[in-house]
Amino acid sequence: MTTTTETRKFEAEVAQVLHLVTHSLYSHKEIFLRELISNASDACDKLRFESIANPDLLAGDSELHIDVSWDKAARTVTIRDTGIGMHRDDVVANIGTIASSGTRRFLEAMSGEQKADARLIGQFGVGFYSAFVVADRVTVLTRHAGAAPEAGVKWDSDGRGEYSLEDVTLPERGTTVVLHLKADEDEFLDGWKLRSLVRKYSDHVAFPIRMPKDAPSPVEDEDDAKADAAPEWETANDASALWTKPKSEISDAEYQNFYKSLGHDFNDAAAWTHNRVEGSQSFTTLLYLPSQPPFDLMMGGRDERKGLKLYIKRVFVMDAAEELLPNYLRFVRGVVDADDLPLNVSRELLQHNRQLDRIKGACVKRVLDLIEKLARDEPEKFTAFYKAFGNTLKEGIVEDASNRERIAKLLRFASTKGEGASQTVSLDEYVGRMPVGQDTIWYITADGHKAAAGSPQLEAFRAKDIEVLLMFDRIDEWMLGSLHEYAGKSMKNVAKGELPLDEADKAKQEEAATAAAPLVERIKSLLGERVGDVRVSARLTDSPSCLALADYEMAPHLARLLREAGQDVPDNKPTLEINPQHALLQRIESEADDAKATDLATLLLEQAEIAAGAPLPDPAAFVQRMNRVLLGG
Ligand code: ADP
Ligand code: MG
Repeated sequence: MTTTTETRKFEAEVAQVLHLVTHSLYSHKEIFLRELISNASDACDKLRFESIANPDLLAGDSELHIDVSWDKAARTVTIRDTGIGMHRDDVVANIGTIASSGTRRFLEAMSGEQKADARLIGQFGVGFYSAFVVADRVTVLTRHAGAAPEAGVKWDSDGRGEYSLEDVTLPERGTTVVLHLKADEDEFLDGWKLRSLVRKYSDHVAFPIRMPKDAPSPVEDEDDAKADAAPEWETANDASALWTKPKSEISDAEYQNFYKSLGHDFNDAAAWTHNRVEGSQSFTTLLYLPSQPPFDLMMGGRDERKGLKLYIKRVFVMDAAEELLPNYLRFVRGVVDADDLPLNVSRELLQHNRQLDRIKGACVKRVLDLIEKLARDEPEKFTAFYKAFGNTLKEGIVEDASNRERIAKLLRFASTKGEGASQTVSLDEYVGRMPVGQDTIWYITADGHKAAAGSPQLEAFRAKDIEVLLMFDRIDEWMLGSLHEYAGKSMKNVAKGELPLDEADKAKQEEAATAAAPLVERIKSLLGERVGDVRVSARLTDSPSCLALADYEMAPHLARLLREAGQDVPDNKPTLEINPQHALLQRIESEADDAKATDLATLLLEQAEIAAGAPLPDPAAFVQRMNRVLLGG
C-alpha cells in the first residue's frame, strides 16, 4: 500500500564510501553479517533502553531478537530485528547520508595518502554499507517502535548512486534488511556457513540471534507478503552478556571474539582484564588493550561512540568512553556494567556523579595494572602495544598527576646506551645503571633520532660515559614540562643549566673560560644582535659550537614547530657555547680581517642552530656566507 515513492541520490560522500568499501573489503567480505547484526543489536539496545521510560514502545511484543534467514531460490539473505526501527527521516539521515562521525573521518583519511585498507575500514565499522560487498541490491524495511503500521518505510538501492524510498505498511516494528546476493556469493546461501559466522563474530551479542531450524525459511516476497508457514527458529548464538559469566567459564577465544565484535577490529586484543567489584557499589568491568592503533588515534581525533560501553544492570545505556576513562587511555575498549546507577541517567548527570567517579578510578587502576603486567610478562606484546599507544600514554604524565609515577614507569625511550633508535629503555633501567654519585636523569630532545644522537650537546656526556635518554617524539617536550623527577632523581635536559662537573672539571672549565675571555668578547661583538650571550662550553669535546638553553627556555625545534602552527612563541636570542680547543675557533682568533672573522663566527652560530633544529633566519645569506668561506679560504 504505497503512498509516496521517491528516488534520491546518495550524498556524494556515501557514493565514495560505497565505492571504497566494496572494493577494499573484498578479502573480509564475511564481516557484512557482523556489521548488520551489530546494527540490529544496537537497535534492540536502543529500544530496551527507551522502553524503560516509555513501556508502550514495546506494544505487545516485548521480545527483542534478531533473525537471520536465507532463501536459495531467491538468492537472498535476510537480517531482521525487533528493535527500535526507523522513521522515514531517520532512514534518509542514517543510510542516505554519512551520519557517523567515524565514517566521515574514515573518508577524510582515505582521500589523503592512506590506501584503503580493510583493517582501517573494520575499525571504523562502516557498517551498513558493507552489505554491498556481497549484495548488488539491498532492501530495508523498517518501522519505528510506537509508530502506526502504515508508517513503515521501504528503502531500496543497488548501491550505485541512487536509492528509492516508499511508504509501506508493516505489521511489526523493527528493521528487515534483505540482501540480494551477487552472482558469485552463493556461499552465503548456506545455513552451516551463516551459523558459523554468527558463532564466530556475534556469539555474545546479548540478544538471541535466531536461525531457521532445519530447512531455510522462505523469505517473503516484499511486494506480496505471503503468510508462509512460520519456520521453526532456534537460537544460534550464546546470547548472554559475556562479562556476566565467571572468568573461569570464558575461554581466551571467547574473550577475543567478543573484543573483535565490540571494537569492530579484525585483530586480536593485546590483553584484557575482567573484574567484578562487590560492595556498597557493585560493578563489572571488562577492559581490553588493542594491539593495533585504531585509525582515529593517528588522526588525532577519537571515536567516543565505539570505545567503552556503559551498561546498567545488563541494559546498554550509552557509549561513555569520555565519562569512564581519562583521555590518555582512549585506546581502551570494553564494557562497564554498573548495578547501582539509575537507569534514566543522562550524560550530564554522569559527568557529576560520585559513583561514576569511583568506577572511573577503578577503570584507570585496572588498565594501568594491565599495562604493567603486559610489560612484565609479555615484553614482545608490550613493545608492539607501546609502539602503537606509547605517545598517547605520555599525555597521562600531564593529565593525570595522581598516576604520574606509574605512567612514567611504563614509558620507554631510546638512549645513548640503547640500540639505535629503538625506544626500549625504561626510567627504572636508566636509574638502575646510574653510577654512584649521579643524581640526575639526563635527556635530550630533538626532531628525530639522528638529530638527538648526533647532537654536540652529548659530547661531554659521552666523554664521561654518562647515559642520556634520546627523546624525539613531538609530545616529549610537552610531557617533560610535567615530569621533573622520577624515583627521587631530577630529570634534566642536557642543553640546560649546569653540567655534572666534579671539582677538577670545574677548575679546568674556569681556567679555559679565563684563557678564552678575549675570544669570547670578540665573537660577541662580531655577532652583535644575533646572540644573547657567548660563553665557553663544558659540553663540547669535538664540535666547535652548540646552543645552550636557559631553564625556562623552549627547545629550538619545538619553538619552530609551534611557530609553524601559528602560535606566539617568545623570541629568545640564543646563547652560543664555543669550544676554544677547536681549530675553527683558533682560526677566528687569528683572523685579522673583521669581515672574514664575522663570516666564520656567524657560521659557528648557524651550524649550532641547524644542529638544534632551529630555523635559519636568512638561508640565502647563510649559503652566500658559506660559499665565500669555502672559496676565500
Ligand atoms: P553505525 O552503526 O556505526 O552508526 P552503520 O552504517 O552500521 O553505522 O549504520 C548507520 C545507522 O543506520 C545507524 O547508526 C542506525 O542509526 C541506522 N541503522 C542501521 N541499521 C539499523 C537497524 N537494524 N535498526 C535501526 N537503525 C539502523
Ligand atoms: Mg553499525
